[in-house]
Amino acid sequence: MKTSLLDIDGFEIELQRKRVRNLNLRVLRPDGRIRISAPYFTSNQDISQFVRENRAWIEKTRAQIASLPLTVSPQYQDGDRIHFLGQQYPLRVSSGGRSSLAFDGDSVNLRCRANASVSAREKILYQWYASELEARLPDVFRQWQQTIGVAIQHWHLRRMKSKWGSCNIVDKKILLNTELIKYPFECIEYVVVHELVHLLERGHNARFYAFMSRYLPDWKARKSKLNGIAKFIDVD
Ligand SMILES: [Zn+2]
Repeated sequence: MKTSLLDIDGFEIELQRKRVRNLNLRVLRPDGRIRISAPYFTSNQDISQFVRENRAWIEKTRAQIASLPLTVSPQYQDGDRIHFLGQQYPLRVSSGGRSSLAFDGDSVNLRCRANASVSAREKILYQWYASELEARLPDVFRQWQQTIGVAIQHWHLRRMKSKWGSCNIVDKKILLNTELIKYPFECIEYVVVHELVHLLERGHNARFYAFMSRYLPDWKARKSKLNGIAKFIDVD
């Protein structure tokens, strides 16, 4: 395999020549780099043409990558984007005084030691994330327990990689992913309703979805919104 760099219409392309049948184009996370794998015999002219044909897709995919809530290895540096309730805000980092995090509606202001590690910064951010989610959930749980006619014992938050929430129907405990605070409120509400409906129906079957449609008629739209934003996380 041979890798070279090409500039095509202002796009910097990482070109890999290898034993493949077709041209293949990928936009890579987290920086939106473009990588093309091409058969050895394809001319640079054909590759340029291929890039031009796919320009719209490249730009759209780059925009999606740029808006991903879960960026790969965030550094939490000044100017980074912070996702909060479906919006993005710039992170402002300053040093001195006690560690703190304040959101003023325009930016997320992190105060930490000048040499604070990435994980120390992340810890401060996630404490804030958790407190913001914790502040909103009691109302959501109150309303939806009443609407659905179920009662839980307890709910709590945890950062998780693979699921938005879970419901222990025996103990009537609901666990939600702290990451949810990055997404639009309607998506958070959808996950809460989903978990509460498990108290009526354990499985993901027709009965379960009938309850979902009864209590949250637009649940499918909310679900695809959540997964639409998040699905690219697993796409390289
Ligand atoms: Zn479920």
